[in-house]
Order: sequence, then C-alpha cells, then structure tokens
Amino acid sequence: MHYSQRILTVSNDLYNSSSFNRGKNTGSHIRATNCATCRIVAFSYSINSVYHEEGGKYMAIIDKEKCIGCQLCKRVCPVEAIDGELKKLHRVNTKRCLDCKACGFVCPKEAITDNNGNLIKRIKKEELKKPVINSDACSACQMCVDICSYDCIQISPPLYKGDIHVFAQFTNAKTCVSCSLCEDVCPLNIIKMEGV
Ligand code: SF4
Ligand code: SF4
Ligand code: SF4
Repeated sequence: MHYSQRILTVSNDLYNSSSFNRGKNTGSHIRATNCATCRIVAFSYSINSVYHEEGGKYMAIIDKEKCIGCQLCKRVCPVEAIDGELKKLHRVNTKRCLDCKACGFVCPKEAITDNNGNLIKRIKKEELKKPVINSDACSACQMCVDICSYDCIQISPPLYKGDIHVFAQFTNAKTCVSCSLCEDVCPLNIIKMEGV
C-alpha cells in the first residue's frame, strides 16, 4: 500500500491513541493543526510506527551478505532510520522506516529491499526523480516544507506588503534525496515526483 494511502486509513481513534510512538522527526517537525486533513498528515510518522508494532509490515531490509558499510544509505535517510559504522553491516530501524526507498536508490551494492521484498534498484544521482510543484494550486500550507529533512522546499516571499499569493517552490535540487515524502504529505496532491 502506498504511503499516502496508509495515511488515509487513520481515524480519530488512532489520533487520540496513546500508543503512538513518536520519533525524533515527529510532532516537533510538523505543525499539528485542528484541520482534519493536516491532523492526519501530522501524525503519519506515528501511524507508521503503529504498523510496525502490529507486525513489522513496512520497512526496508539490508542484505547482510551484500552490505559493505559504505554509509551512503545512512546519509540519505530522511528520518535517521539507519544505523551502522563504517565498513560494518548497516541495519534499518523498522520502527522509523517509512519505506521511502531513498536508501536503496544510492546503495552501490543494491543490498536493500523494500517492504514488499523487492530489490530497490540503484539510480544515478542525475536520474533521481525530483518534486514538481503546481504552484498555481498551492495553498502555502507549508506541509512539504516542514517534512523535507533536506531544506529543499521554501515558500516564495511576498512580492509586496499584503501579498497572499505565495506558494511552495523546490529550491534545492542538490540536496534532494528523492524520498518523495513531500509528494506524499501534500494535502492538495499537487506535488509530483518526475524524473528524466
Ligand atoms: S526506506 Fe527511507 S525511511 Fe526507510 S531506511 Fe531507507 S531511506 Fe530510511
Ligand atoms: S505544495 Fe502542497 S504541501 Fe506544499 S505548501 Fe503547497 S499545498 Fe501545502
Ligand atoms: S523528495 Fe521532497 S521531501 Fe524528499 S528530499 Fe526531495 S524535496 Fe525533500
């Protein structure tokens, strides 16, 4: 199931549940509001943890025979879900992993499989998909800005005093790891990951 579909399975029950296991990038990283849509999104990380606790369904797995401990996966993971020392086997923290696949895109040994057990193919840096934002439809809610761990998206500055036609802009392609969390989190569904 796609990440955004998982978000939509959340009910108010879960929102109020004390079983949420918030990680470092939850809560403080995303602004919670009273709006139903945003509230669902704001707790998406926590929900992911609940899924793990219920059976570890969603996670990336590193093949211990192939991993050379180069640390590239650890460096790109947007939620710090990978641990490991240089030249030693790396492991995925299944309670944090969002199955975004960014780790697999950079692994030189193609040692990482996704939550369905499919090998994640390495992708050349210049061929990684990047977010394309429909700025005309953007409400400037800032959810994409808040969720990006690499500061790739910014809200455009107002052009004059009182200008309310501001919108999200993808401004830093160099640090984007193609995790697609911005695409998943946008409540208006106006971000599309596009590649070469
Ligand atoms: S799939 Fe994404 S969230 Fe999970 S370990 Fe890899 S980079 Fe981190
Ligand atoms: S692109 Fe979507 S998530 Fe980002 S500010 Fe606009 S409406 Fe919000
Ligand atoms: S895909 Fe989106 S959230 Fe992920 S690093 Fe790039 S801009 Fe940030």
